[in-house]
Amino acid sequence: MDRPMSDAERTELLSSRGIGRVHTQHMLLMDWNETDGWHSGRIVAYGPLQLDPATSVLHYGHSVFEGMKAFRQADGGVAIFRPFDHARRFRRSARRLALPDLPEDTFVEGLEALVGEDYDWVPSAEAHSLYLRPMIFGSHLAIGFHPVVEARLLIIARPTRSYFPNGVQPVSVWVSDKYSRAAPGGTGDVKCGGNYGGGLIAENEAMEQGCDEVVFLDAGERRWIEEMGGMNVFFVLGRGEKARLLTPALTGTILPGNTRDALLTLASDLGIEAEEGRLSIDDWQTGTADDSITEAFACGTAAVVTPVGSVKSSRGSWTVGNREPGPVTLMLRRALMDIQYGRAADPHGWMHRVAPVPSASA
Ligand code: PMP
Repeated sequence: MDRPMSDAERTELLSSRGIGRVHTQHMLLMDWNETDGWHSGRIVAYGPLQLDPATSVLHYGHSVFEGMKAFRQADGGVAIFRPFDHARRFRRSARRLALPDLPEDTFVEGLEALVGEDYDWVPSAEAHSLYLRPMIFGSHLAIGFHPVVEARLLIIARPTRSYFPNGVQPVSVWVSDKYSRAAPGGTGDVKCGGNYGGGLIAENEAMEQGCDEVVFLDAGERRWIEEMGGMNVFFVLGRGEKARLLTPALTGTILPGNTRDALLTLASDLGIEAEEGRLSIDDWQTGTADDSITEAFACGTAAVVTPVGSVKSSRGSWTVGNREPGPVTLMLRRALMDIQYGRAADPHGWMHRVAPVPSASA
């Protein structure tokens, strides 16, 4: 039901009770078929979808998605972080899943329309933001495997707060040597629903081990660190002036994170040397023991920059940096967040300003 919401009602939903649990009032829908291409883009009230039980996505996992954030700026405005980069990755994901890809401008216009409509839902509290979730799914009816002939775009939004309501707390990770996330030639370097469904069992395993997150190794040798369930990973080698960064290279089985890319750029701005290479799980353990690897952190839209404090694996357990966030981790996190929240200049043009639609804001 599309009904006006009072400021008091929204404020209550944006309070700690509702944050992360409620979506904004609207969503964007758009349809695709072979004859008309993408058409009928519309903003409607947020609510359930009605799907025929034979809809392709329900049977064959024909879906791709994105995740990005809109941030309340220091001057009161709203800006989305790197929407065109997310648009490009969304296109790549759609092509890999043989779904129709969406022109980048249409993607960004869709985000602008939804965020403009639900402008007052972008939180202003410290470290809060509006998480945006676009997805495309195969919407034609298919019991029997057929190419996608009908698809739908959906964008929903949800106010969210940082992973760390009480400050930056390092996470513990479990290294899975039983399950792989991605194999060469597979779908690991795109964002499709099945990657996450297939990874859940490893996330559950991590929790059974008392850890917060899972680290995936390469599928071939089960040796090389790739990434986490929904984040890329960085290591800090050395200390002080000599500190440098290492992150696993994009070999085709790792999702090219936009946060990862931003941090590589910020590192270069800050004069920190950064290398895309590879690190084995054994080298992480010995490097921590001999103090050549001093920090580790995960990064992504949701996690921003999340320090890793301890590691558990079938080879043994170790702590990283006395379970305290390290100086390089904190410096990069601060530099990134200052740009995202409009507290610092945006020299790389990452922030995309959005205006409220005239009726949306009081
Ligand atoms: N790896 C995986 C598997 C992810 O799901 C994500 C989140 N999209 C990332 C890395 C980080 O990507 P980004 O920085 O673009 O959010």
